[in-house]
Amino acid sequence: NKVLFCAGVRVYENCAVHQVHNKDCKVTGVDTSRGSIECNFFVNCAGFWARQVGKMSEPFVKVPLHAVEHYYLHTKPIAGLDPMTPDCSTSRLLPEDWDHFHVLLEQMLLRVPVLGSATLDQLCNGPEAFSPDCKWIVGESPEIQNYFVAAGMKTVGISAAGGVGKATADLIVNGCSPYDLHELDISRFLGLHNNRKFLRDRVREVPGMHYGLIYPFHEFETGRNIRMSPIYPKLRAAGAVFGQVMGYERPSWFDPKFNEVSDTRLDNGYHPYRIAYTKTFGQPPWFDYVKDEYSACREAIGLSDYSSFTKIDILSKGHEVVDCLQYLCSNDVDIPLGGIIHTGMQNKLGGYENDCSLVRIAENHSYMMIAPTIQQTRCKVWIQKHLPADGSVTLSDVTSMYTAICIMGPFTRNLLSELTDTDLSPRSFPFFTFKELDVGLANGIRAMNLTHTGELGYVLYIPNELALHVYTQLIEAGKKYGIRHAGYYAMRAIRVERFYAFWGQDLDTTTTPLECGRSWRVKFDKGKHFIGQEALEKQRSEGVKRMYVQLVLNDHDPEFDVWPCGNEPIYKDGQYVGLTTTTAYGFTFKKQVCLGFVKNLDSEGQAQEVTTEFVLSGNYEVDIAGVRYSAKVNLHSPNLHTQYPDKERGAYLATREEQVAR
Ligand SMILES: Cc1cc2nc3c(=O)[nH]c(=O)nc-3n(C[C@H](O)[C@H](O)[C@H](O)COP(=O)(O)OP(=O)(O)OC[C@H]3O[C@@H](n4cnc5c(N)ncnc54)[C@H](O)[C@@H]3O)c2cc1C
Repeated sequence: NKVLFCAGVRVYENCAVHQVHNKDCKVTGVDTSRGSIECNFFVNCAGFWARQVGKMSEPFVKVPLHAVEHYYLHTKPIAGLDPMTPDCSTSRLLPEDWDHFHVLLEQMLLRVPVLGSATLDQLCNGPEAFSPDCKWIVGESPEIQNYFVAAGMKTVGISAAGGVGKATADLIVNGCSPYDLHELDISRFLGLHNNRKFLRDRVREVPGMHYGLIYPFHEFETGRNIRMSPIYPKLRAAGAVFGQVMGYERPSWFDPKFNEVSDTRLDNGYHPYRIAYTKTFGQPPWFDYVKDEYSACREAIGLSDYSSFTKIDILSKGHEVVDCLQYLCSNDVDIPLGGIIHTGMQNKLGGYENDCSLVRIAENHSYMMIAPTIQQTRCKVWIQKHLPADGSVTLSDVTSMYTAICIMGPFTRNLLSELTDTDLSPRSFPFFTFKELDVGLANGIRAMNLTHTGELGYVLYIPNELALHVYTQLIEAGKKYGIRHAGYYAMRAIRVERFYAFWGQDLDTTTTPLECGRSWRVKFDKGKHFIGQEALEKQRSEGVKRMYVQLVLNDHDPEFDVWPCGNEPIYKDGQYVGLTTTTAYGFTFKKQVCLGFVKNLDSEGQAQEVTTEFVLSGNYEVDIAGVRYSAKVNLHSPNLHTQYPDKERGAYLATREEQVAR
């Protein structure tokens, strides 16, 4: 406290904030019950009042949290038990509610029978703030610059305070944190998450999650069926079992034998949706469905709904948009009209703020950006922050305007050719390019010749009102090619086996392209300075301290063994070298596949340079729930066997352009 006092910090108690002011969406001051204060930064850490305090500005800051009751029981001292319990003397407690508490009490007496003879002192009922995904809410608000939030601390706000405070201070002082915070970042939400009815519904099940042992691929039961693509009813009728991301219902897998009418019709005729529960640490119940979908995507045609992906149009009248994107992106985005480029948007430390595809829709004027679903708010804020002050470049979030259907597989060109007059031959419509197509009787379909799994195929961005028509045409014409619906778990299985990194799963704000085998996508010599360039140049000359690898497990039995699900320790010659990121069963390898990062730690645990030779030498093991499985390490995307090989796609490697000899 002395240090703070000397630094000029003054603490005023019983001082209520009434209004937070901003100019051009940048904090300028606060009105309080003890007068007004001019300030450049404001931190909303008002506990479960933070949502209310968020409303004390214009535009208001959305802090999606809801208070829940949290109980603990004070007893008179019990012999042999440590009397250290939280202070119960605060005036902020809610009334006792024994009807609510007795359910917990019964279980508690089973677990700790000695409490049965304890003498009751007081039942404490204190409110706690929970966010809709059971994680803290930290970071700069998307609505107002220099307005920070540190709230939603649940039942662990005291233990979390030091770390959350340090992270918030880092963000204010340095503009970034040395730790990846994207999972806690306030910009992981959309407006719908702040809807009070949604919060009331969702937060009922959130505290249980805080204390529960969470299975992989966790799904919430509440707050469902909010964002749905126009083809959702068709997908549901086709047996879709849904997972939710950013409030969007996306098929995780399909159960083709599911009969919507006989299996789920309720008395009132309403068809409930099916939620993609996994609820096991072993072989998941969806294994066989995903296997068949995987096979359709690789040997016939798989159709997936990608509508949840973030889609943003970035525009200018002249060349300004190109200059702006060259500064934001580490790849050279000045590509020909109709081209598509995959690029990272790095922060000043070289880490990925965003990983996206940019499509050059029109010369000079416009690009369409496709980014991960979870980035819808976050990447928009990042780009907006770096737009020229003169307003010459604008962006428009078109996520909700387009339905995105991906068709994958060797017969996709034949299928799409049947439905359009445009020549789709590789000469006219090469890989990694864009064309606007007529499909069936519809027009204006933005077609990208690429998939996010490296399979042959197209992603069609369809104006919403045309989506049902295009979907029906694809399904009808696709029957003779064996078209099949495919969910996200099949896509994940392919991309993990193909060694494709995904932002938010393998990559985060601390991962650099040099560490994850994408140096070839960083154009140091493009003649335009970009954010993170100095950090990446330094890393290029000094060498990387971790390297992205693929590990294929040798002796894992998918039927009986516990499955990997990320964050498993990796060992090399018996020494710990890193953690896995994402994992999936590889249906071509017929083996469990883990992606992850390998470090070279010295005897003091300090990370040293990691070279290709270091990674490729030694014997690897992955520890899954205490059992170590030997593994083969890969540094480049493998060429997966298919009955229908394709030269153009086969030559494209997402991770490391050059094959590395073993
Ligand atoms: C019964 C109980 C037991 C707990 N046990 C533990 C434990 O063992 N370990 C642990 O880690 N955590 C525990 N917690 C949780 C912990 O207390 C909270 O997570 C933590 O206090 C939250 O801190 P906070 O700073 O976010 O919010 P708060 O502590 O609620 O502080 C928010 C502050 O903002 C102020 N405020 C609100 N509106 C305004 C305004 N307009 N202007 C100015 N100020 C405003 C409030 O007066 C308040 O002082 C427990 C909580 C309860 C209820």
